[in-house]
Amino acid sequence: MSLDLQDVAVGPKGGAPLFDAISLSVAPGEVATLMGPSGIGKSTLLDAIGGHLAHGFIVTGSVRLNGRCVLGLPAEARRIGVLFQDAMLFPHLSVGDNLAFGLARSVRGVARRLAVDAALEQAGLAGFAGRDPATLSGGQRARAALMRALLAQPEALLLDEPFSRLDAELRAEIRGFVFEHLRKCGIPGLLVTHDASDADAAGGMVVNL
Ligand code: ADP
Ligand code: MG
Repeated sequence: MSLDLQDVAVGPKGGAPLFDAISLSVAPGEVATLMGPSGIGKSTLLDAIGGHLAHGFIVTGSVRLNGRCVLGLPAEARRIGVLFQDAMLFPHLSVGDNLAFGLARSVRGVARRLAVDAALEQAGLAGFAGRDPATLSGGQRARAALMRALLAQPEALLLDEPFSRLDAELRAEIRGFVFEHLRKCGIPGLLVTHDASDADAAGGMVVNL
């Protein structure tokens, strides 16, 4: 599974692109890093790749995921997951139901519970299915958000500064956890960060916007 961007830029309709077009290729299990000043268009670029580009913006160039062009597809058909700065879990759902939200509808009945329990176990959250997300620590929430994203079986994962609110120790731990899962699952990742240590840990190519 590889994610390939060729001459990709985003910008307001009828206006200049926010940055010079970029090209990059992310192999299965690798994580490439995007860096650049605030407001340059990093989040807008991830929105475009994921299929959530705001009204009034356009994307140019080509984005291929495992050889498929995705820019013409609706977000739900792209199989691209996203992790944000605030690991947002739905507050009105239990931790287990949050994870189940990521599962395909075709996974039914007891298979749903088993899949959620296995993911919770991998995240060090065995027995947390019935918990209210508000009772989780920051690190637990971040791990649960990753598991919810992975249960949707994405073919690529976009990471928009997902570690920036975590303190240094937790940051290194969660970062390792996320990158290890991507490697294990063979999923290409595209990380936006302001922190050079995140880029080092990601170990892939670094592109400056
Ligand atoms: P970065 O993530 O690199 O900090 P963004 O992609 O969030 O930058 O923003 C790029 C530019 O697009 C900024 O000038 C920002 O104000 C503008 N922008 C972002 N989202 C919207 C939106 N929904 N509507 C209008 N302008 C937006
Ligand atoms: Mg941003």
